[in-house]
Amino acid sequence: NDVQVSVLGLGAMGSALAGALVKAGYPTTVWNRTSGKADDLVAQGATSAATSAATAGDAVRSGHVVIACLLDHVSVHEVLDPLTAELAGRTLINVTTTTPEQSREMAAWAAGVGVAYLDGGIMAVPDMIGRPGASVLYSGSAEVFHEHKPLLELWGMSTYFGDDPGLASLYDLALLAGMYVMFAGFLHGAAMVAPAGVTAGEFATMAAPWLTAMTGAFEGFAAVVDGGDYTVEGQQSLEFSSLDHLVTATAEQGISTEVVAVVQKLIQRQIDAGHGREGFPRIIESIRQPA
Ligand code: NDP
Repeated sequence: NDVQVSVLGLGAMGSALAGALVKAGYPTTVWNRTSGKADDLVAQGATSAATSAATAGDAVRSGHVVIACLLDHVSVHEVLDPLTAELAGRTLINVTTTTPEQSREMAAWAAGVGVAYLDGGIMAVPDMIGRPGASVLYSGSAEVFHEHKPLLELWGMSTYFGDDPGLASLYDLALLAGMYVMFAGFLHGAAMVAPAGVTAGEFATMAAPWLTAMTGAFEGFAAVVDGGDYTVEGQQSLEFSSLDHLVTATAEQGISTEVVAVVQKLIQRQIDAGHGREGFPRIIESIRQPA
């Protein structure tokens, strides 16, 4: 491929992204604040086209497409702010994890400097890059996304959400929110059975297929939420979903009730407001309106 690419940041993730580009034969210039991290990639480049740049400015000058994979929003500005002249007219793909507002700020900054901007959120760990299951979410410039899709697809499945540059990051963090609450739920269950002599490993064997099967409920919940009618027939009601037994059993095991108490409170607020006969997805109304 003849697109000249530069990668700024060779941490665990930046190295994986750059490695995939080098492997696919993209002429790739890499830069890292601390030297030495480029050695492996440049060695691979003996059979393709990797070069190491001494400064971020040199790297930007040698790339038509500049990829930033740094620690956070602040470090991206630290590296790029002095390079506005070098960046003008180029394309910046920033896959550093940021909040939606930070992504929008970066896009506005890039527009001011004359840079085409695509923001990315990586839904993978470095080992998954270039393998099935890796997914990267994008928003910002549609032109950049479509023009460079072959390059982006080297990392994983790429999905474009639109020209609001904050959307990829919003999706990224919303998906992580679901993941962390599920992880906490799994660990809560493991802590519950532990006093009975059940190992976390034994519990995981039961929990993984159970939770996987339960994701089948998302579609029905989503239809109710999007339809806005929580009284639709055939749903499990909030009253029926009372977590009393679950919270009592948790306390009886002598462990914290915090994880399950959160869900119980969301349910209770809707019951208190007179919606106890309505469907479980109604707890989204408790989430939408902070107590
Ligand atoms: P690492 O901690 O491995 O690497 C951080 C990188 O940022 C290094 O190259 C480091 O340079 C550089 N850096 C930090 N501060 C500065 C600065 N002020 N100026 C210049 N360079 C700086 O992190 P990862 O590679 O794992 O993560 C990079 C991004 O990818 C993060 O935003 C992360 O959230 C995201 N990501 C990572 C995932 C993962 O599983 N690792 C998953 C999804 C997203 P130096 O070597 O000099 O310290």
